[in-house]
Amino acid sequence: MNNTLFQDHAFGITTIDTGFMRPGFDASHLLVENNHAVYLDVGTTHSVPRLLEALQAKNIPVENVDYVIVTHVHLDHAGGAGKLMLALPNAQLVVHPRGARHKIDPTRLIAGAIAVYGEKTFKKDYGEVVPVAKERIVIAEDEHVIDFQGRPLLFLDTPGHARHHFCIFDERSKSFFTGDMFGISYRELDTPKDSFIFATSAPVQFEPLPMHDSINRLLSYQPEKMYLTHYGEVSNVAKLADKLHDSVDKQVLLTESFANSGDARHQLLFNAIMDYLLEEIRQLNCPLSEEACRKILAPDVELNTQGLEFWWDKSLSEK
Ligand SMILES: [Zn+2]
Repeated sequence: MNNTLFQDHAFGITTIDTGFMRPGFDASHLLVENNHAVYLDVGTTHSVPRLLEALQAKNIPVENVDYVIVTHVHLDHAGGAGKLMLALPNAQLVVHPRGARHKIDPTRLIAGAIAVYGEKTFKKDYGEVVPVAKERIVIAEDEHVIDFQGRPLLFLDTPGHARHHFCIFDERSKSFFTGDMFGISYRELDTPKDSFIFATSAPVQFEPLPMHDSINRLLSYQPEKMYLTHYGEVSNVAKLADKLHDSVDKQVLLTESFANSGDARHQLLFNAIMDYLLEEIRQLNCPLSEEACRKILAPDVELNTQGLEFWWDKSLSEK
């Protein structure tokens, strides 16, 4: 079944639109086996009714959701986990060792998000962040395996975007659920030629070298598909990985080139990243207008700029 709420793929995998920001921006994934289900990333607290609606459309009872998995604790991926868990009596929340305490007590996470987005936007976009009871949390260290109804799910520690980020390999479908580690690739920018993809260097734990390593580590499993939170299924994985590596290097180079620009740095870097991405899109013969593309990319370019500046200033202070 395919509609504006969700799209079905092979192997019982479904992309659900969480409704965060705009259509086609933020996905949750549902994995179904034996009439049981797992959610992978969940959007925000406002997304919970949509996630439950998709489950109901598949006639899966809430009692049959075994796990809620969050790739990392950023709120567009994990903000709704606490609220969702209240509706799922038998589910356990699977989280990275560095993320667990933020799910039990989200206070610091909320403060961090308010610092990035401001209080008003935070309240409107994310709503209340409900804590998760400690005894319902499973911590997945590197190479942890969960047996989901006879279907092994392997967890790999993948720093680069955030230090509390893992990716999940589903052996059955030979695919990864990548959170933000395999970049951002919006379906509305797809062309017959290719998919547009770029690395996300959002604040505050972007690290270029670990990001390259994590991308290579995912590739070493020879995955056939990647399921991105932003957004959905991509194929041609090896080719997209090359582009991702390039986009990490390019963004780092641009950051270096504006290192001495003082107060003008933020705007200059923002403009340079935007121009770079627009040029990449142009080369794919994207039918959308430049203005439409700018509008789609602006929030990500802003976050990337902030993340790159944060990384640069931090690495200088460590030298
Ligand atoms: Zn994200």
